[in-house]
Amino acid sequence: MTAKILSAAPVVAQIKRDLLVRCENLIQRGITPAMCVVLVGNDPASLSYIRNKKKLCEEIGAKFTLLHLPDSIDEKSFLNEIDRLNQDPAIHGIIIQLPVPENLKNLNIPNLVNPAKDIDGFHGLNTQNLYSGSVDLSLLLPCTPKGIINLLKFYGVSIPGKHIVVVGRSLIVGKPLSMLLSNFDATVTLTHSKTKDLKSLTRTADIVISAIGKAHFFDHSFFDASKNTVVIDVGMNTLDGKLTGDINQADVLNTINAITPVPGGVGPMTVISLIENLITATEKQFKG
Ligand code: NDP
Repeated sequence: MTAKILSAAPVVAQIKRDLLVRCENLIQRGITPAMCVVLVGNDPASLSYIRNKKKLCEEIGAKFTLLHLPDSIDEKSFLNEIDRLNQDPAIHGIIIQLPVPENLKNLNIPNLVNPAKDIDGFHGLNTQNLYSGSVDLSLLLPCTPKGIINLLKFYGVSIPGKHIVVVGRSLIVGKPLSMLLSNFDATVTLTHSKTKDLKSLTRTADIVISAIGKAHFFDHSFFDASKNTVVIDVGMNTLDGKLTGDINQADVLNTINAITPVPGGVGPMTVISLIENLITATEKQFKG
């Protein structure tokens, strides 16, 4: 048995077709959906993510702007800039690119953005949808969790009743993902660096989702071939100068049922979910 590769490409193509139509409908009404990414400083990884967002925005006909601020900016000037974007009727989606420099770390970054323009889905008013048990994927939900659910659905991987082990409990991936999967009736085990005997959990799971940020951490010993495990690799690490996931794919291919590639898996699903949130946010701002 060799694992099926769950590539994002056909899923992204399908979602993109729908977004092109929705974007065109808005443009015909005189509204060009516009995203603004706020970048403070020059983090090289952030610059690369921003390029992907810009490219996809332009491919569907939306407008992309970058507000590049110096990392020396003080809190007051930063807050003024965000407030200006929150009020600007020509901007429909705002992203504050993380991480921000030390001098802004005391700010509650997710809650600074107008919730109607919060296309990252991190504002408290939007994450409440996760707590309330929603399974409505058209809401402004965090992009990586939303992208993973859409990928599982596309490939016919059933979620209800499945035991899903999520590794990593960050606010942007592990925690919201666990909640969303639970809303879709999975039985979720959320694990982290203090979890004892992680292997005993991953070896009995139906689906394992890793977001720990450690290149090739998982080898075949974390999986039991008789379980037909589906593995979702969120990790984006650099190993020998190459983008690499948390899973040692070559080593696990004969032990699991299916896996998302890195690159070409969860990363593109995250970006397309962001663009989907932009179109949804724009539609809602001009409803009625
Ligand atoms: P964080 O660094 O915020 O969190 C990492 C999590 O992994 C923590 O909860 C940590 O546990 C846990 N962890 C670390 N080591 C272990 C271990 N040995 N065993 C079990 N758990 C462990 O990471 P992010 O969620 O921000 O990102 C994780 C990875 O996903 C990164 O590679 C990042 O680049 C990638 N990423 C990819 C995205 C995509 O679109 N593909 C989007 C977002 C992130 P503890 O809480 O105990 O410290």
